[in-house]
Amino acid sequence: MAILIDGKKTSEQIKSEIASRVGEIKASGGKIPHLAAVLVGDDGASQTYVGAKVKACEQVGFRSTLVRLDAGITEEALLHEVQRINDDPDIDGLIAQLPLPKHISVEKVTAKIKPEKDVDGFTPANVGRMALNWPTYVSATPYGILELLKRHEIETSGKHCVVIGRSHIVGSPMSILMARNDYPGNCTVTITHSRTKNLDEIARSADILIVALGRPEFVTADMVKEGAVVIDVGIHRIADESKKSGFRLIGDVKYDEVAPKASAITPVPGGVGPMTIASLLYNTLLAAERKIYP
Ligand code: NAD
Repeated sequence: MAILIDGKKTSEQIKSEIASRVGEIKASGGKIPHLAAVLVGDDGASQTYVGAKVKACEQVGFRSTLVRLDAGITEEALLHEVQRINDDPDIDGLIAQLPLPKHISVEKVTAKIKPEKDVDGFTPANVGRMALNWPTYVSATPYGILELLKRHEIETSGKHCVVIGRSHIVGSPMSILMARNDYPGNCTVTITHSRTKNLDEIARSADILIVALGRPEFVTADMVKEGAVVIDVGIHRIADESKKSGFRLIGDVKYDEVAPKASAITPVPGGVGPMTIASLLYNTLLAAERKIYP
C-alpha cells in the first residue's frame, strides 16, 4: 500500500516551525513579519481564501493587513495602492488575491509588486530567479509540493517526472523545479498539456506523476506505473448528500484505484491543498528576515 503523503500534518509542522521562529524574533526584539493582502471586489471564494491567509498569519504570530478595495476601482488606482504598499517599510510581504476584475490587467498588477515583497512568487523577476535556481520566493503550490517530497524523503534524482498541465501557477514551474540540479529535482521531466498526444502512455512511464489539469478523477489506474509517486494538485467540489456540507472534495486522480498501485500518493483533501498557506507564511518569514534580497 502506498505511503500517504500527508499535507495536513506537514503544513501543521511548518506552521509550528514558523511560530517558533516568530517567538525567537519577538524575544530578541526583532521585527514581526507583516503580510498585506489586497482583495478587490466581493467574490465569495476570494474572501474565503484571503480570510484563511489572514487567520493563518494570526496563528503563527505574524501581523497582517487586509486591504479591501471596491470591484469598480480603476486599474490606475489599484496600481497606486500597490505602490503605496511597496513603499511602506513596515510591510514585508504583499499579495494581490486573484482573480482580479476583468477591466484590470493581472500582468500589470503583478509586475508592479516589488520583487522583494512578492511572497506569492509571481513577478517576472522571481519567476526568472526560480528558473535560474537562484534564491527566490517559490510560489505557494510548487513550494508546497517540493516540501512534501522533501519531508517524505521521496527520491527524485534520475527519475522520470511527468507533469500534466502547464499553467503558470502549477505545471510550468513544477517542470522547471523538478529538472533543476537540486533536491528535490534532478529528474528527467516531461511536461504535458491539452495538445499532448499519447498522454496515457507518457503518464505510465512516470516514476513521479504530478497532476494539475483541473479535471475530476482524470488519472485512472491504467495510466499509472506500479510503484509510481503520485502528486494530485486538482481540487473539485462534487455534490454528496451524505455529507453535512452537501459536497465532498475530489482530485484530478481517481484515488481509490490509483493508491494501491502507487508507492506514495497525496490524498484530496489533505494533500497539496493545505500546503499552500504554509508556503505563503514561509515566504513571508523569508521576506521579513531579508533572506532572499539581503
Ligand atoms: P489551469 O486550468 O490553469 O491549467 C490546466 C492545464 O492542464 C493547462 O495547461 C492545460 O493545457 C492542461 N490540460 C487540460 N486538459 C488536459 C488534458 N485533457 N490532458 C492534458 N493536459 C490538459 O489549471 P491550474 O490552475 O494549474 O489548476 C489545476 C488544478 O489544480 C485545478 O483543479 C485547480 O483547482 C487545482 N489547484 C489546486 C491548488 C491547491 O492548492 N491544491 C492550487 C492551484 C490549483
